[in-house]
Amino acid sequence: MDDIRKYLSLKLTLDPNGKCSYGGVTPPECLRMIKKGLEDPKVKFMIEEMEKSGCSIKPNKFIRGARCQQLAGAFFSPGRGIHICCNNVTFQDEVTQGMIHELIHAYDECRGKNLDWSNCYHQACAEIRANVLSGDCHYLREYLRGHKNLRGHEPECVRRRATASVRSNPNCTESMTKMAVDAVWETCYNDTKPFDKAP
Ligand SMILES: [Zn+2]
Repeated sequence: MDDIRKYLSLKLTLDPNGKCSYGGVTPPECLRMIKKGLEDPKVKFMIEEMEKSGCSIKPNKFIRGARCQQLAGAFFSPGRGIHICCNNVTFQDEVTQGMIHELIHAYDECRGKNLDWSNCYHQACAEIRANVLSGDCHYLREYLRGHKNLRGHEPECVRRRATASVRSNPNCTESMTKMAVDAVWETCYNDTKPFDKAP
């Protein structure tokens, strides 16, 4: 389980090519940020969609603040819920984005009964979708990470971030990761469910 947790983590603050911003907030502040995140329209939408798919969650229990060992902003623990790494996040946007990204993983797990997180292909698909649909690759976020070349930045950003996540899966070597990302790219990049289209 710990391994799974590790490679499902969202490396919001540890972008391999970007800037690292390690902050950390106090637990009460973190809780306040999570509560604020729950008011975000996209977070609300994902929680509703979970319910429609037969996976109702109690947001206050499902999304919790935690002190994380790994350098991540948030992670999804299959069957257990979403942890926001209070010791790593600094800004509201990191918390809200972390919630959206991990909720997309939770949604995928809900709809794909055979989803196997240790499988490089399955994980590649989930990470591509989460990075496209959450808006993690919005040009402003990319700009703040230090990626100033904005031409064609979106697919590049999705590929870079999805690759980094899959690569942290101990089952996926560098060549397997590339193969998996390439193989599922077209299908998963264009699979915008539960959204009508990519944001
Ligand atoms: Zn992810």
